[in-house]
Amino acid sequence: DVRVRFPPSPTGLLTVGNIRSALFNWAFARHYGGTLVLRIEDTDQARNTPEALDYTLDALRWLGLTWDEGPEAGGDHGPYLQSERMQIYSDIVGKLMVTGKAYHCYCSQEELDDRRETARSAGQPSGYDGHCRALNAVQAKAFLDEGRRPVVRLRMPDRPIVFDDLVRGEITFLPENLGDYVLIRANGYPLYPLVNPVDDALMDITHVLRGEDLLSSTPRQIALYEALAEIGVGSGRTPRFGHLPMVMGSEGNKKLSKRDSGAGLDEYRTQGFLPEGLLNYLALLGWSIADDRDVFTLAEMIDAFDIRKVNSNAARFDQKKCEAINAAHMRMLPQDEFAARTVPFLVAAGYLPAVPSDDQLAVLRAAVPLVQERMDAFGESVELLGFLFAGEDFVIEPDAAAKVLAGDAGSVLAASAKALEGVEWTTAAIEAALRASLVDGLGLKPKKAFGPVRVAVSGRRVSPPLFESMELLGRETSLRRIEQALV
Ligand code: GLU
Repeated sequence: DVRVRFPPSPTGLLTVGNIRSALFNWAFARHYGGTLVLRIEDTDQARNTPEALDYTLDALRWLGLTWDEGPEAGGDHGPYLQSERMQIYSDIVGKLMVTGKAYHCYCSQEELDDRRETARSAGQPSGYDGHCRALNAVQAKAFLDEGRRPVVRLRMPDRPIVFDDLVRGEITFLPENLGDYVLIRANGYPLYPLVNPVDDALMDITHVLRGEDLLSSTPRQIALYEALAEIGVGSGRTPRFGHLPMVMGSEGNKKLSKRDSGAGLDEYRTQGFLPEGLLNYLALLGWSIADDRDVFTLAEMIDAFDIRKVNSNAARFDQKKCEAINAAHMRMLPQDEFAARTVPFLVAAGYLPAVPSDDQLAVLRAAVPLVQERMDAFGESVELLGFLFAGEDFVIEPDAAAKVLAGDAGSVLAASAKALEGVEWTTAAIEAALRASLVDGLGLKPKKAFGPVRVAVSGRRVSPPLFESMELLGRETSLRRIEQALV
């Protein structure tokens, strides 16, 4: 049985890197009919707040990355919030201490730094040197009497740690580079390299798919899974690992940082991306369905997903491509759904009331074929469709007015108004009347002829196709806007 996990630290931010990890675990679980566990790594109370937890759950729901066990879903391996598992961690550390797999270390930070410096300048490995590995009770008491408070370290095995990474193949870590590491701070605070593998073991995780930035902690974690198995804690098996390639910034020379444009999930939500469009793009950061194909549905991804086919080379984040993939998904939507997805944006911008009227919805539906091929994200519906619903508050963009409604635009508009008098209000008749008057009559090039009309009726220099838009807008509003632009 495949059991994977997504273990976010709820900091109020999800990056595309986090989401890519969640997606690959989700696709892997769904492909094998396995279980995705959502575990909240919130031991750092200073950074993790209840609001941040809500944010994380809401984001995953928006993405459609469903979890089978975890907060809200429940399950047999809870609690799923690490902040509620503190007692479990200290009990386990107690067992590790009693069995000699972990020990107290009293070295101060300065002492560690000094010895590390000395080792480094002698060309020796600079990890922990094992100073407190074999303290006796008398020595320990002496340190305690000095007022020292110990950390707890895991005793690392004195042999190479080798594992077959599902993405990167066989990886070997030599013992000289794997010093005994800290599980619990002197103030009793349990650290990530303790709680993360402990929970993997207790939650019976079979595969750990996560970013390559965590590769260096993997051998230490493997030592801990093995120690836990020996003392009978958890499933007793070490999970398989797959380290997903780094996501690089658009320049390709450094890791995408959470401050980089395009790095955080919120931008995509505000701009109105489709979750399936965003996820399709993120899937391409390390995986592909076929050499000649970039666009696929999540169902297709689940079907085809193979962790062994994930590429180990770093992936470059390309926002333009992300937009293009999203646009492709928008084109695949049924028209009604497309229309429905524009509504929240038009409502937020004040163009539509919270509950649009039937007439407004009819206009919106009729407008979809005009814009469905032209948008990269639903936020653009405000600029492209707002003018159809602007009513009394219709305004012409100052820049468009200055550039297009200047010069002889007045005479073009006057001629348009005249040409449209009494015309049957259909796209074809509007177009015929305007062409006859402006292009044939006044001898204007189409751009010169229709530019002012477009700005007058839509308020912008870029709009959906003009004649169709005018038909949708109606005779009265179109003519009124042309008249108003004249004064
Ligand atoms: N809480 C860790 C993180 O968000 C989990 C990393 C892991 O997958 O082990 O980075």
